Amino acid sequence: MKLTFLGTGTSQGVPLIGCRCEVCCSEDKRDKRLRTSAMVEVNDCRIIIDAGPDFRQQMLRTGVRSIDAIILTHEHKDHTGGIDDVRAFNFVDYPIIRPSHIYATPHTAACVRKDFDYAFAENKYRGVPVIELHEIDIDKPFSIKGVEIIPIHGHHSDRFEVTGYRIGKLAYLTDFKKIEQSEINKLMGVDTLVVNALRFKPHDSHFSVAEAAQLIEQVKPRKAYLTHLSHEIGLHTTSPERLPKGIELAYDTLEIEIND
Ligand SMILES: [Zn+2]
Ligand SMILES: [Zn+2]
Ligand SMILES: [Zn+2]
Repeated sequence: MKLTFLGTGTSQGVPLIGCRCEVCCSEDKRDKRLRTSAMVEVNDCRIIIDAGPDFRQQMLRTGVRSIDAIILTHEHKDHTGGIDDVRAFNFVDYPIIRPSHIYATPHTAACVRKDFDYAFAENKYRGVPVIELHEIDIDKPFSIKGVEIIPIHGHHSDRFEVTGYRIGKLAYLTDFKKIEQSEINKLMGVDTLVVNALRFKPHDSHFSVAEAAQLIEQVKPRKAYLTHLSHEIGLHTTSPERLPKGIELAYDTLEIEIND
């Protein structure tokens, strides 16, 4: 199984528009973070986790011509804003039309239906995205092309819920602020754990580095990566000396091989 980080930045991305801090001005490409998204490839199945405003650019950068599914973590725009661009995949082999399969909880699916209402209208106009929305049950594994995916329930804040995903020996959690012990149990035995950490200072709807580290310490994966990073995380190059041992910052285009 291969994991590719397509984006590792928080909702506004890094650099942040107008910011002149050393991270936003850095020439290091690892400090340039598109909105958080990842690609998981297992055998011939290619799954994208989240499709934010940078989805088009991320798909162009990977060079892929097809994807099997998009699984959404929640309805925030930095995770769903690029859904309209699935059109390119729908029509890549025109006149064959390939619908995009999007998986989400019923609440997130309802938000997608509302935000992209023209794609779900009775009388659609030409060229709208062709989407098949699949509602998942947070308590039940589901499968895409024979690949089993286990949803992991999390609290993003007191207003929003979020879904992480375990695929084999990989678990990927973003936009978590709280996780119940019963859900942590579902993470046990993973090889690679990806967790969000906005910055070192606490935040009311995202894990800080210390909170992410606490979860990582409980799960004890072989490797742990932080994602959904803000410019306040500091320069990538100095991150090893500032992070707890065994934890690394992810960066855009980083590819990881995970053995089953
Ligand atoms: Zn986010
Ligand atoms: Zn900045
Ligand atoms: Zn969010």
